[in-house]
Amino acid sequence: MYDVVVVGGGPSGATAAEHLARSGHKVAMIDRAGRIKPCGGAIPPRLIADFDIPDSQLCARVTTARMISPTGRQVDIPIENGFVGMVDREHFDEFLRTRAAAAGVERFTGTFTSVERSDDRTEVLYRDKASGETERLRTRLIIGADGARSNVARAEVPGGDRIPYVIAYHEIIEAPEPTAAYDPERCDVIYDGRISPDFYGWVFPHGRSASVGMGSMIRDVDLKQATADLRAQSGLSECKTIRREGAPIPLKPLDRWDNGRDVVLAGDAAGVVAPSSGEGIYYAMVGGEVAAAAASACLASGRARDLRLARQLFMREHKTVFRVLQSMQNAYYRSDERRERFVSLCHDIDVQRLTFEAYMNKKLVKARPMAHLRIGLKNLAHLTRLVRAEYV
Ligand SMILES: Cc1cc2nc3c(=O)[nH]c(=O)nc-3n(C[C@H](O)[C@H](O)[C@H](O)COP(=O)(O)OP(=O)(O)OC[C@H]3O[C@@H](n4cnc5c(N)ncnc54)[C@H](O)[C@@H]3O)c2cc1C
Repeated sequence: MYDVVVVGGGPSGATAAEHLARSGHKVAMIDRAGRIKPCGGAIPPRLIADFDIPDSQLCARVTTARMISPTGRQVDIPIENGFVGMVDREHFDEFLRTRAAAAGVERFTGTFTSVERSDDRTEVLYRDKASGETERLRTRLIIGADGARSNVARAEVPGGDRIPYVIAYHEIIEAPEPTAAYDPERCDVIYDGRISPDFYGWVFPHGRSASVGMGSMIRDVDLKQATADLRAQSGLSECKTIRREGAPIPLKPLDRWDNGRDVVLAGDAAGVVAPSSGEGIYYAMVGGEVAAAAASACLASGRARDLRLARQLFMREHKTVFRVLQSMQNAYYRSDERRERFVSLCHDIDVQRLTFEAYMNKKLVKARPMAHLRIGLKNLAHLTRLVRAEYV
């Protein structure tokens, strides 16, 4: 009999499982394994510090972000006092799962299929990878951390089957030698309707490899062609392709993360990815932490409503950043004219400082009201077309 069965061993599941085991609970973690999570792998310093990520997990350190507009205008934003870390999900996820196991989590490899309940017992059913047999784990609570399009969310949580998605696609390529066009310490973010009509494209260095990709919510966008165009535009067509892969990125946190009984969701399964940026690893790990806190509270009190704590704790901390990023996406990802204005706005030192502070440390800086006011006015001037995109 487990206290908690965690379904999914990505950043959210491994973090939830580790936290619960460290606080003395009996925990099982089921992961289906066998597939590297498609991901750009960019993580902020706040994640590295809060979740104790060793240097050995970083395959690159990025010190500049380059914003590129539809007309090819480039704005380089230096990352002051730090760097953005890049992780390789093949190794990063396994590192987190191994750390969870070292804390006492029992690992199972297989695919979650369903939850079965009778009067006195709840069981999680999964298909064991080695034997192909259906196995059962009896448990008091379940954390669904099985990623976007979560089967646990679909089966157990109201609304869990209706999260809107961007479909993101990327190619892992062999990194070229550094040139003026390719810098192994620079992330390029491409705002161009020809690459993505409603999201963005990227070139992220990963040491010996790089991730080149884009995302879109629009179903008839040819993701592979857009990525081929982006590679051509970035001078990366000739690099050897190591992998091609795509996956959904959820766009909106669910209104409920629990089923009012014995299941709580975490990470992508709960729809928790930052709008605008698609950043999900940090929020998945925080989601794992708050799901673990809610499960602990519920186990201690016996009150199912304590599972709601997960969403409450998360939203208390991150709701404002999510709201600001959603407004930014709604305002600026709509047309090339708006994208041009957005990149134009990125010239502003205050915009650079505030956005990077928010990304790096997950805080909206309140201390500089005049800077906020100036940014607000510029924003308004751009959205009402009072200024031309070139004018900053
Ligand atoms: C192309 C792309 C690029 C991205 N780039 C970035 C980036 O640069 N930075 C960033 O912060 N975020 C990025 N994201 C988002 C980020 O990858 C996710 O938000 C993050 O991985 C969510 O973590 P998670 O643990 O919730 O889910 P996942 O990482 O998806 O983990 C879910 C786990 O559950 C397991 N699982 C799934 N179904 C089952 C099942 N039925 N039974 C058992 N196990 C199961 C899977 O094996 C997996 O290990 C990107 C996403 C995509 C698609």
